[in-house]
Amino acid sequence: MQSQIKSEKSHFNKLQKRLRREVGRAISEYNMIKDGDRIMVCLSGGKDSYTLLDILLNLKTYAPVNFDVIAVNLDQKQPGFPEHVLPDYLESLGVEYRIVEEDTYSIVKDKVPEGKTTCALCSRLRRGILYRTATELKATKIALGHHRDDILETLFLNMFYGGKMKAMPPKLVSDDGQHTVIRPLAFCREKDIVRFSESKAFPIIPCNLCGSQDNLQRQAIKAMFTEWDKRFPGRMESMFRALRNVAPSHLADTSLFDFKGLTANGQPVEDGDTAFDPVDVPLSFKDDNDKDEKPDQASIVNIVNL
Ligand code: SF4
Repeated sequence: MQSQIKSEKSHFNKLQKRLRREVGRAISEYNMIKDGDRIMVCLSGGKDSYTLLDILLNLKTYAPVNFDVIAVNLDQKQPGFPEHVLPDYLESLGVEYRIVEEDTYSIVKDKVPEGKTTCALCSRLRRGILYRTATELKATKIALGHHRDDILETLFLNMFYGGKMKAMPPKLVSDDGQHTVIRPLAFCREKDIVRFSESKAFPIIPCNLCGSQDNLQRQAIKAMFTEWDKRFPGRMESMFRALRNVAPSHLADTSLFDFKGLTANGQPVEDGDTAFDPVDVPLSFKDDNDKDEKPDQASIVNIVNL
């Protein structure tokens, strides 16, 4: 029994360390947080946003930069929303927070015809309210809990149904140029977040209170990923690395690469003489995520590894 408890604790510590390290890496790589930032963490009551808040609060203790965290939940007035859960949790942490009450549920039910998907309008309304709240709270950054698998799902949704090679960026500026949005969990695997969230016993609020379900296309892509992850370990990691390692000259977008102006000028071109070679694709990809990697000495990562 003792040894089982010890082993569970050691697994949890490794998991927590890995998540913290990945968040540190993303923050450092995309320059997400700087000294004096006031980060508004959007808390939905799901596993992802609880994990994000937990890790940012921990990071705040060790990071070499000073930043503040304020948790914000939007109570959209869905029937059955347990209003006390988030305030109770946030009080217990002693973190600054704001609950914003806006009945977007009624607006969405009123405007969207029965049987049509409600998520697009709901998300638009939510985004507007959260941007307004960030301004009121003088937040310099808005942090969202999307993770690596969300980013890959979005990429595939856009490729399969939108004819675009477009995912979800780790950092972006809002349409009106007023807000910087960051996704510090961008490098974190969903399965790690699930395990972390279970171990921490976060008081999860179900996400289907509005009666809407994840759209079928997204569900199909999730199922495809689950299957791939079982059959081809490392494929998800490889796909995500691909997103960070793009070769515009080997795609077909004329706005990213000047194909029209491309002519042989007698000078050697890096990567330019492989047109007749077979594509060099490794047969397997090593998933080194479960190993205890050495921290990146040059980044904030070594702080969270302490
Ligand atoms: S699932 Fe419900 S709450 Fe979530 S975005 Fe869709 S309509 Fe809004």
